[in-house]
Amino acid sequence: MEVQTLKYPAIRNYVGGSPAEAAGAASMEVFSPITGAVISTVPLSSAAALDAAVVAAKAAFPAWSATPIKERVQIFYRYKTLLERDMKALADLVREENGKTYDEARAEVEKAIELTEFACSMPQLIQGEFLEVSKGVEARAERKPLGVVASIAPFNFPNMVPHWTIPNAIVLGNTMILKPSELVPLSAVKIAELLKEAGLPDGVLNIVNGDREIVEAICDHPDIQAVSFVGSTKIAKVVYVRATSNLKRCVALGGAKNHLMVLPDAHPEMTASNVAASMSGCAGQRCMAGSTMVGVGAVDGIVAKIVEEAKKIVVGQNLGSVISKAAKDRIEQHIAEAEAAGAKVLLDGRNAVVTGHEDGYYVGATVIDYVTPDMRIAQEEVFGPVLAIMRTNTLDEALAIENANPYGNAAAVFTSSGSSARYVMDHANAGMIGVNIGVPVPREPFSFGGWGDSKFGACDITGKSSIEFWTQLKKTTTKWNPESRVNWMS
Ligand code: NAD
Repeated sequence: MEVQTLKYPAIRNYVGGSPAEAAGAASMEVFSPITGAVISTVPLSSAAALDAAVVAAKAAFPAWSATPIKERVQIFYRYKTLLERDMKALADLVREENGKTYDEARAEVEKAIELTEFACSMPQLIQGEFLEVSKGVEARAERKPLGVVASIAPFNFPNMVPHWTIPNAIVLGNTMILKPSELVPLSAVKIAELLKEAGLPDGVLNIVNGDREIVEAICDHPDIQAVSFVGSTKIAKVVYVRATSNLKRCVALGGAKNHLMVLPDAHPEMTASNVAASMSGCAGQRCMAGSTMVGVGAVDGIVAKIVEEAKKIVVGQNLGSVISKAAKDRIEQHIAEAEAAGAKVLLDGRNAVVTGHEDGYYVGATVIDYVTPDMRIAQEEVFGPVLAIMRTNTLDEALAIENANPYGNAAAVFTSSGSSARYVMDHANAGMIGVNIGVPVPREPFSFGGWGDSKFGACDITGKSSIEFWTQLKKTTTKWNPESRVNWMS
C-alpha cells in the first residue's frame, strides 16, 4: 500500500533546544483551511510531556536570569533580522495553517517584528529606582523575573500572538513553555528554530503541543509561576480560575463583540472602507474585528457605500478562509438565524466556493442590516466576515448597546465631530477605543488588553503593562554608613 507523505513532517514538541517526542501521545491531523487537505499531524501531549519541558525550563532559568539584560536583548536584535530574512517562509506558514491571505499573514509577521523591537528596548524601560531614604540609608527597587512561565495561544494569529509574550517574558529573564493552538502548530516550530539560530540558550523556550489536558496541566504545575492565555472567553475564565486557584499569576484574554458607532457626519468613503476592512480582515477572525455596527440616525448613504466596499472583498483573493468546516457552518448558521428573525441580508457570503479550492472553508463578506439587540448575532461572537448593523436614533442609545454587552475589547466611533468622539472616548466601556479607526490595536509601547469578559487579570499582555506581569519587584535597603541612630531610620 502506498504511504502518503504529508506536506509538513509530523509536529514534535520542543524541549531543551531540540525536537522531542511526546511519548505515548495521541496525535491529531492538521488541516490547511485553504484546501481542506491534511498537511501535518500534531501530538496531543500528556502531563508527562509538560513535566519534561518544565524540567528543561527550570534548569535553564538560573543562567538565563543571571545573564545581564543588555546581553539577553542582543539575541533578540539578531532574532529580529532573522524574522526579516525569513519573512516569506514565515508568512507562507501562517497562510497555510490559518488560511488568511498572504498580505494578512505578512502583516502578522511584521507585527511580530515590532513586538521583538519593543522587547529590545527593555533595558531602557526597566531601569530600577534608587533613593537615599535616610542619612546614609539607600533604598533600591529592581525588577526580577518570575521563573518558568507559560503562554497559551489561540488559532487566529499563529505567529503574532506567541510574540505577544515570548520576547518580553524572555528578555525580562523568564524561561517559557509555549502551548500553541493545536489547529495551527506549524509556526511555533519555526519560531523556536529561529530563536535557537539567534543564540537563545537551550531550555529557555520550550514548546508543548496539545489541547485541554495540557492547558489544565499548565494551570496545575507547581513549578510554573505565571500563565498567559489568549482565546475564547469560556476557556479564558476556566484558565484564569484554575491558574489563580493554584496561586499563580494569570492574565487571560477572551473573546469580543466590538461595536463601530457610525454617525451621519462621518466621512462616507473613509468610514465605508474602514468598516468593511474591520469586519472582514483575517476573515473576521480577529478579536478586534468590528463585527457589529450601530448606525446613529440617517446613515443609509454610508451603509450603501459599506455594501459597495464589501462587494470588492472576494473569497480566495483578498478574503481568506475561516479556520474549519465547523467554523464555516457556525457562521452560516448565524446568518440564517438573523435572516429568519427579520434582519435584512444586504450581501450574502453563504455557500462561497473558490475554484480550485472547492474543499476550502470559505465564507464570503456578508452585510446584514436591521439587526436588533435581542438577536443572537448581536450578542455572540460570530468570528467570521459578517457585519451586523443595528440602528439607533441617538449616540446614547448606541453607547447603551455597546455597553450592555459583557465583552469590552474594543469600540470605535466614526464622526467628524470632536465632541462626539470625545463623548465616546469617555463613555464606551472597552479597553481599546478607535476614533475613525476600525481596528484600534494599540501599537508598541502601548499595551493590548480589553475590559470585562475580554480580559481577566490585572495587567495587559503586551507593551509597558506586561513588564509588571512578567516581573516581580525586589526592594533592597542598604547602609554602608558606620554611624548608627542618626535618626529613627538608621
Ligand atoms: P479557544 O479558547 O478555543 O482556544 C485557545 C486555547 O485554549 C488553545 O490553545 C486551545 O488548545 C485551548 N483550549 C481549548 N479548549 C480548551 C479547554 N476546554 N480547556 C483548556 N484549554 C482549552 O480559542 P480559539 O478558537 O483558538 O481562538 C479564538 C478565540 O480567541 C476568539 O474568541 C477570539 O476573540 C479570541 N482571541 C482573543 C484575543 C484577545 O486579545 N482578547 C486575541 C486573539 C483571539
